[in-house]
Amino acid sequence: MMEGNNDYIIVQLLKSFLGNPKSEHDALNKKQWQFNCPGPTCRHDVDKFNLEYNSKKKAFKCWKCEPVYSGYVHKLVWDYGTKEDYRKLNVIFPKETSRSFKDKVKRVKTDHQLITCELPKGYMPLGKKRNTKLYELAWNYLVHDRKVNPSFIDKYQIGYTETGPRKFRIIIPSRNTLGRFNYYEARSYMKDPKIPYIKPSGDEVHKNDIIFNENFINWDLPIYIVEGVFDMFRIPNSIPILGKEISELLVEQLLKHNCTVILCLDDDAIKKTDETCKLLTSLGLNVFFIDLTDYKKDISKIYEDHGKEEVAKALMNMKRLDLETEIKKKLKNE
Ligand SMILES: [Zn+2]
Repeated sequence: MMEGNNDYIIVQLLKSFLGNPKSEHDALNKKQWQFNCPGPTCRHDVDKFNLEYNSKKKAFKCWKCEPVYSGYVHKLVWDYGTKEDYRKLNVIFPKETSRSFKDKVKRVKTDHQLITCELPKGYMPLGKKRNTKLYELAWNYLVHDRKVNPSFIDKYQIGYTETGPRKFRIIIPSRNTLGRFNYYEARSYMKDPKIPYIKPSGDEVHKNDIIFNENFINWDLPIYIVEGVFDMFRIPNSIPILGKEISELLVEQLLKHNCTVILCLDDDAIKKTDETCKLLTSLGLNVFFIDLTDYKKDISKIYEDHGKEEVAKALMNMKRLDLETEIKKKLKNE
């Protein structure tokens, strides 16, 4: 309780030189705050609230400033508050505490909610019709070949490129719980020549440091884990892991929310499904998996070839690993 009050006192202190935050709704319990950034890149922005402050971790980060402006609250107060502000802060939350705090909360620097990225150069929303051949190709690839419902284009802010280092791609952005872009998938919409997908570069953001489209996830409901973004379109409350490896971050979040997990990896990933089921089960989670071996195709392909009823049918094929292995063992022994 005491700590909660102190958290809010620090926010009040920040307000005295940063101005009012974007919202003060539920101020006493609020952890994530957005202020106008006083940094050199953004100081002339009006009500952009680029600076995120986490009152629990006492850390801040501006998602626009370059070089990145981030650190502990002490730095922010030192840089932009008065000497008196700094003295007050150290009474409430001594700098020494922040050092030992740092060891405790190692993840401050990599708090995944603070990780953001820019959409690639040349990104144009596909929801805005343009009279170009490339627009038509992009639209046809997404809506006709991959059968993505046009209503998803605005919902997920799907775009495409005609120019730039990631040209000729469909861009499927990911957003964090604050609605900020933190990753994207770039798929070629050209049939020929084949060009690979190009993701954000590793030094920008790594796929394992974010939860793809966490914005749309309700952690209180069962979470489906799928491989790719097109599978994500097919199953509500699904998280694409953009491959077959589940990230440490995702495991942490599943544990934090004590989720029921339903793995729905591609039909060729039986070993990986088995491994991941075992891992998550051993951590105490309630884990199921969807058996797609009879289909010999992944969820997005099932949808594209047979429609949503078949996807619903495939999802009924839900199994629990331990029962499966027991049954198999029994069958072997008979
Ligand atoms: Zn800034």
